[in-house]
Amino acid sequence: MDQHYPYALPPLPFAFDALEPELSARTMCFHHDKHFAAYIDNLNALLKDYPEYQKWPLQKLCQDWARLPEDIRQGVRNNAGGVYLHDRYFQNLHPTPVSSPLPPMEGAIARGFGDMEGLRAAMRQAALSQFGSGWACLCADGEGKLSVVKTANQDTPLPLLPLLCCDVWEHAYYLDYQNRRGDYFDAWWRLADWPKVSRAYELHLSRPIPERKD
Ligand code: MN
Repeated sequence: MDQHYPYALPPLPFAFDALEPELSARTMCFHHDKHFAAYIDNLNALLKDYPEYQKWPLQKLCQDWARLPEDIRQGVRNNAGGVYLHDRYFQNLHPTPVSSPLPPMEGAIARGFGDMEGLRAAMRQAALSQFGSGWACLCADGEGKLSVVKTANQDTPLPLLPLLCCDVWEHAYYLDYQNRRGDYFDAWWRLADWPKVSRAYELHLSRPIPERKD
């Protein structure tokens, strides 16, 4: 997606019902067209009267929200994070996913987690232990080392770069799985498209994100 103001809702890269039975058309429709769209609209509205901050790329808004004027600070924190994380969330799902990572990501997973099963267990643990709403993300640091990080609300793990993000807000799964977050995680994991995640990792290695400057 365009990472600058004004933000536009990226179309879902497949049909609403393409992920059934793991995620229903009803869930995908509400999640993408209502929830994701609301973060986009809210962020545009917050920045409307602030041309100075309209120039900040999305990643900087997520990372440096604490430097914003008080009246938009918390709103931008929540909604820029919501835009950034949902963009990644929807882009990494696939109706016919390929479940094997490509090198060099394959090697980084082996170094960090032993194998894909080790990574899956770490992601599942993070997703299930996040109290209340939030995210579980597979992240890369500036050197390409992988880690699993959970965050609350719409906080991003930046400056660690999130490569694969599991939304554990109830709106992501309640229509299909009610309180069974573990069942939702297992379904979501089956839909993750590893070639795409691997390409994002490879791009990151060739262009590491700058460290935070305080
Ligand atoms: Mn969501």
